[in-house]
Amino acid sequence: MTEEIELDEQNKVYFSCKTCGYLFEEDPELMPIRCPQCDSEDTERM
Ligand SMILES: [Zn+2]
Repeated sequence: MTEEIELDEQNKVYFSCKTCGYLFEEDPELMPIRCPQCDSEDTERM
């Protein structure tokens, strides 16, 4: 028997920036989430 286990060690999830629409992965514990492209904090978890 084999099991496929997804190793999400860093627990990253997708966020989208409401300012520029950029989609990126970030750790949700690192609040506030800032857009790496335009540095806006107006981001939304996908
Ligand atoms: Zn942005």
